[in-house]
Amino acid sequence: MMKPTGILPVMIAVLAAFALHGIVFAAPASAKKPGTTSSQAPAYCKLCGQKYPDAKTLLRNRCPHNDGGKGKHVLFEGEAADMYICENCGMTYTSLKDLTRNTCPHGNGTAHVPYRGGICAQYTCRWCGRKYKNLKDMTRNSCPKHPDGKGNHRPSGN
Ligand SMILES: [Zn+2]
Ligand SMILES: [Zn+2]
Ligand SMILES: [Zn+2]
Repeated sequence: MMKPTGILPVMIAVLAAFALHGIVFAAPASAKKPGTTSSQAPAYCKLCGQKYPDAKTLLRNRCPHNDGGKGKHVLFEGEAADMYICENCGMTYTSLKDLTRNTCPHGNGTAHVPYRGGICAQYTCRWCGRKYKNLKDMTRNSCPKHPDGKGNHRPSGN
């Protein structure tokens, strides 16, 4: 009769130790250092590709591509990557500066616009939901649900 009563407290002690360790080890991992994530990430303008140390500085400054330099930079919400793709025509560039420097064949004389979703395996039209593997193919075809009545498919904002 001594055995069961002797083992039980030991097991409880072991479980408690595990639980305690779990808490001790989990606490620093789950507490992500506040303030070091978004504020220090470099920010890019989606109109001219200019890089700034953070989004606040970017939004404060005037953009040469926005209303002839009268408007401010607009934050590119996608991630920095090796390759950027235009959401209006599907052309790819290795930098946002190159992409925004060139005129988009689908943009009525305006520059390419970087797609925030980046290069994807598949693109879904934001208006009609049709899926395409190739953004060039997608933006070449007219969308039956385009808000302007006529116009081509555009990838979803994701
Ligand atoms: Zn800009
Ligand atoms: Zn384009
Ligand atoms: Zn569509």
